[in-house]
Amino acid sequence: MEIKIEDLKVLFSEEQLQTRIKELAGQLNKLYNGEEVIAVCVLKGAVMFAADLVKHLDMPLKMEFIRLSSYGSSTSTSGKVNAVDIKLPDLNGKNVLIIEDIVDTGLTAKFLIDFMHINFNVKSLKFCSLLDKKITRKVDIEPDYYCFEIDDKFVVGYGLDYDGYFRNLRYIGYKEL
Ligand code: 5GP
Repeated sequence: MEIKIEDLKVLFSEEQLQTRIKELAGQLNKLYNGEEVIAVCVLKGAVMFAADLVKHLDMPLKMEFIRLSSYGSSTSTSGKVNAVDIKLPDLNGKNVLIIEDIVDTGLTAKFLIDFMHINFNVKSLKFCSLLDKKITRKVDIEPDYYCFEIDDKFVVGYGLDYDGYFRNLRYIGYKEL
């Protein structure tokens, strides 16, 4: 599959994304009730979502960034997650909020949740994802929070890429087959 910008249909507009992200931030503000949070952004896909989400969070907050990769083609994942760059401070006793772009097979989410529990005795761990493709799940894992559920489409934009491109779009789009 090749994707060109002129092929893209809008799945979620900039306005839909921003409205839903503000709503989610409201829920998280209530959940944490002013307690400090360490927001862990999963690069590169979650960069836009994390940047917009944290702007609406009111508690004392630090941002950390980690990078993972999974081998596969441009539009499908292989099922093997690799830690490319995970340098985190001491997260013992912290409220950790993992911010991801999309949960697809769930392998990345599972890897990250296991990683946190193996390495740290966190005060709390929540996993939030912009998108949730529940239908393609291979492991039994659900994000604690997500903005939108989608069906089995390959989506791009707003941080999500195709071959490195389209991360800069302000909307989420897909190619109609
Ligand atoms: P997992 O299969 O481990 O749940 O998801 C792994 C990663 O695959 C996601 O973090 C995301 O980077 C990528 N991915 C899954 N579905 C899509 C999609 O529809 N579009 C894009 N651009 N990436 C996706």
